[in-house]
Amino acid sequence: MKTAIATVSISGDLKEKLAAIAAAGFDGVEIFENDFLAFDASPREVGQMVRDHGLEISLFQPFRDFEGMPEPQRTRAFERAERKFDLMGELGTDLVLICSNVSPISLGGIDRAADDLRELGERAKPRGIRIGYEALAWGRHVSDHRDAWEVVRRADHPNVGLILDSFHTLARKIDPETIRSIPGDRIFFVQLADAPRIDMDLLYWSRHFRNMPGEGDLDVTGFMRAVAATGYDGVISLEIFNDQFRGGSAKPISVDGHRSLVYLMDQVRRSEPGIRIDVPDMPDRIPVSGVEFVEFAASEADAADLGAVLNTLGFARAGRHVSKKVDLWRQGDIHIVINTEQSGFAHSSYITHGTNVCDIGLKVADAKATVGRAKALGAEPFEQPVGPGELQIPAIRGLGGGVMHFIDDKSDLARVWDIEFRPVAEDAQPRGAGLLRVDHVAETMAYDEMLTWLLFYTSIFQTRKTPMVDVVDPAGLVRSQAVENGDGSLRITLNGAENRKTLAGHFIEENFGSAVQHLAFETADIFATSGALAANGFRPLTISPNYYDDLDARLGLDTEFLDRLKATGILYDRDEQGGEYFQLYSPFYGEGFFFEIVERRGGYQGYGATNAQFRIAAQKRHLRAKGMPRSRHTGPDLP
Ligand code: MG
Ligand code: MG
Repeated sequence: MKTAIATVSISGDLKEKLAAIAAAGFDGVEIFENDFLAFDASPREVGQMVRDHGLEISLFQPFRDFEGMPEPQRTRAFERAERKFDLMGELGTDLVLICSNVSPISLGGIDRAADDLRELGERAKPRGIRIGYEALAWGRHVSDHRDAWEVVRRADHPNVGLILDSFHTLARKIDPETIRSIPGDRIFFVQLADAPRIDMDLLYWSRHFRNMPGEGDLDVTGFMRAVAATGYDGVISLEIFNDQFRGGSAKPISVDGHRSLVYLMDQVRRSEPGIRIDVPDMPDRIPVSGVEFVEFAASEADAADLGAVLNTLGFARAGRHVSKKVDLWRQGDIHIVINTEQSGFAHSSYITHGTNVCDIGLKVADAKATVGRAKALGAEPFEQPVGPGELQIPAIRGLGGGVMHFIDDKSDLARVWDIEFRPVAEDAQPRGAGLLRVDHVAETMAYDEMLTWLLFYTSIFQTRKTPMVDVVDPAGLVRSQAVENGDGSLRITLNGAENRKTLAGHFIEENFGSAVQHLAFETADIFATSGALAANGFRPLTISPNYYDDLDARLGLDTEFLDRLKATGILYDRDEQGGEYFQLYSPFYGEGFFFEIVERRGGYQGYGATNAQFRIAAQKRHLRAKGMPRSRHTGPDLP
């Protein structure tokens, strides 16, 4: 499998783009004419530069408004094409993309278009140039790959073939299965792009909102399965027009792009039996059965504070590491680890971010296989020297500077708490509060990194993404989207902050990019838990009475029930199927980190999105009341 990416997909000047593309592992690039029009080098030098990076120019594009023109435009179009052929010779590439004509003066007619392409094929042949014809979704007369194929079929010239682009097919809801009847050797090139489902003008949607396969809502896998069934074994290339990507950083976006292709082809191989696809062998997406542990990096002083908070939440200190300054806190199936070592990964994480969640341990079906799959998808394995009595727990570097460890039942890993920790008895044990397990881990990142995180989790683990919801913070929007597995035992919410004035943005800013902003624990009885917490000295976040008025207006609640919610500071939500959700929040710990306690009844699957704005308002009031230092950074402060 040869992979390529169009240079327009990423930001930077041509040199920066090529370096990022080569480093991410691509074989080639699609060169857009604009790339070197703006770049101060001759086509020959650009070609050399590409090859110096170990890349090939897989395609030159685009050549527009060619077929079906009346005279004199027709003659001029052929002359224009000849000049592009010269340029391609200089660049060192043999394939040009001709996209279907959008000109209002073009005449239409399948045979007229086929005749023009055949004649161009004749002119291209002595130069060794091949012509690929692509149907633009908004083409004047040809806007469907089936018609483009008919044009190519009738052109009947060895130098004229078809170019398929998943966006143009899927955006127009054309059944990709229709590709299966096209001979694979007549397909010269395949471009891939996904996109979020948005109802808008096709051209605008295409030019601004495309994203990597797997990042959007289109069935790119189904499209690629059909392509693979034709026997096509040429280049698959990303052609992604996305404003965020063009304004982002070339390196991570190239890495995402390569990951998306490997992930896609792995899925295609698994779902299209009998197809040989040359993609690295790797285990299938990994089933996860929950969060096994959450590790904080902290100073000794912060660790004492954090321990006090955990105490009020009903956690007991259950163990001390055999050789390290690492404590285990436990309640139900929740394991919280507090690491105060003066060396190693946790320490460097503390130095960078302050007290923060530096490590998440997931319970998986097979820990080694998880690292194997993650590596095949370009993730970095993580290892540090193990001390005496310690297990080598398979791990990778996550995003946002954190680490992820994997525990399974196949080996000693399942007994890590017994093997690596000695029980402690001296502490006064708090009254447990009925917390059972981690319901969700909430991670915060800059909005333009959200797709990276989504792709990371969904490509490695057997998870799916939920639709994106907007959370209204008085200082700006925060986009929220969850990654979940089938039975809800793994839930990670991703919160993309557009600016640092929002609570989420403030958190990233003050913690230097740290990711986990809150941990939500599940209880089976929120009111009992609330009582136990109160007895432990826990004071929940104070929620405005207005919230309860609004809630009553929206849902028409029983007065006694409403009063009970109000008295305990519990937030409430109900879905259309009658599922119920209860949420109780802790005040802030440090710079915007907090805990949440939830109860789900009747199969409620969401996260209380409608409550988020009230929670945020309450937290901002709390932040002001605490007299938190104004942001160290410039710009308007939190309102
Ligand atoms: Mg295209
Ligand atoms: Mg939450």
